[in-house]
Amino acid sequence: MKTYRIAIIKGDGIGPEIVREAQKVLNAVSQIEHFSIQYQEYLMGGCAYDACKNPLPEETIQGCLQADGILFGAIGGNKWDYLPRELRPESGLLRLRKALEIFANIRPVVVFDELLEASTLKPEIIRGVDLVVVRELIGGIYFGEPKGKDEKHAYNTMIYTRDEIKRIAKVAFELALNRKKKLCSVDKANVLDVSLLWREVVTEVGKDYPQVSLTHQYVDNASMQLILNPKQFDVILTGNLFGDILSDEASMLTGSIGLLPSASTGGKAALYEPIHGSAPDIAGLGIANPIATILSASMMLKNTFKETKAASMIEKAISKTLQEGYRTKDIAAFGAKEICSTTQMGDLIVKFLQ
Ligand code: NAD
Repeated sequence: MKTYRIAIIKGDGIGPEIVREAQKVLNAVSQIEHFSIQYQEYLMGGCAYDACKNPLPEETIQGCLQADGILFGAIGGNKWDYLPRELRPESGLLRLRKALEIFANIRPVVVFDELLEASTLKPEIIRGVDLVVVRELIGGIYFGEPKGKDEKHAYNTMIYTRDEIKRIAKVAFELALNRKKKLCSVDKANVLDVSLLWREVVTEVGKDYPQVSLTHQYVDNASMQLILNPKQFDVILTGNLFGDILSDEASMLTGSIGLLPSASTGGKAALYEPIHGSAPDIAGLGIANPIATILSASMMLKNTFKETKAASMIEKAISKTLQEGYRTKDIAAFGAKEICSTTQMGDLIVKFLQ
């Protein structure tokens, strides 16, 4: 029997609650599909700071490097806001991404028919939306040097090398090849030099993928087009800063941040996590939506373990649960027959797997 080793990082706030449900679903599907999973838990974020005054202990990095996949909940919370930046929970996550060299963040945005009313946009605009944002994750202005702040100035550096652009572009073209073969690269080439290089390199890489139709949009236009006509997009490729903003904007097409998974891959490991944060306002109340985390686990099964049947069983079980009118509180207003807790939602998804 195949065994997969998964590093579990529950993190802070709702992290432990939502990861627990994802593990429940993984356990159930592994029994049906006859593979086994070994979990090893590691600390990161505020809980790691509390335990050892370090938001990213070395043991966590090593454990993640050895695992076949990493399932992560979320980190952060007001409790740690007083700390200097390098000790804050968020710096643990940024450092982990860098240590694992996971440069490609992949965020699928698929609108569930059952939740069309959950979006602030009209159903006819979002019905059938199925796009992926590919965001460069460990370069650009979030990491560029020099950076600094004094009394009079503050500055960051947006820098990309040719190689950094090339490797993320390849990920996006490969993805497009297996989808609708459309790639839109987003930059700000009318103003930024770094975007001129971005556009040049993406166009060069595109020559190796003649089946994929490549277009370019400025980020200001792209943010407008996402709201105006999101169905025009298949794969959106962009850098770290623009990707951070556009992927959150795209996620809202679906109506709830609690529904969307993501994968961060490309380097020495594959990390899967919901796109939302630790939601301190609802932590411990048992009302968090675990679907984004369960879908992240399903992405891990599909993309990293190649357990496509198990992944599709999970996706179908989630659709069935929503079709039957079960909703967590965040999506309760839309076609709810019954409002469920985090745990009940996990149990229902397990039930519909059968
Ligand atoms: P957030 O995503 O945690 O919460 C935003 C809103 O969405 C809140 O009202 C929250 O209750 C709701 N929400 C989020 N996930 C939900 C879920 N699964 N079910 C139901 N409702 C959900 O963003 P925030 O409030 O800006 O940040 C809170 C903390 O999370 C901060 O410390 C931030 O730095 C951190 N954060 C962490 C990550 C991460 O771990 N990858 C990402 C973003 C923010």
